[in-house]
Amino acid sequence: MRINILLKCSECGEENYLTQKSKRNTPDRLEVKKYCPRCKKVTLHKEKNKK
Ligand SMILES: [Zn+2]
Repeated sequence: MRINILLKCSECGEENYLTQKSKRNTPDRLEVKKYCPRCKKVTLHKEKNKK
């Protein structure tokens, strides 16, 4: 079972990436380093559940 999640920049709060994850394989909150066009650098992006 896969759910849609948003990856949100932890520095400016911009929601930059829409992705999917398996709730079973990844029960914890995703934290990935990705490029943020608003910060113009790679920042930590945290999972935000899409409703
Ligand atoms: Zn940002």
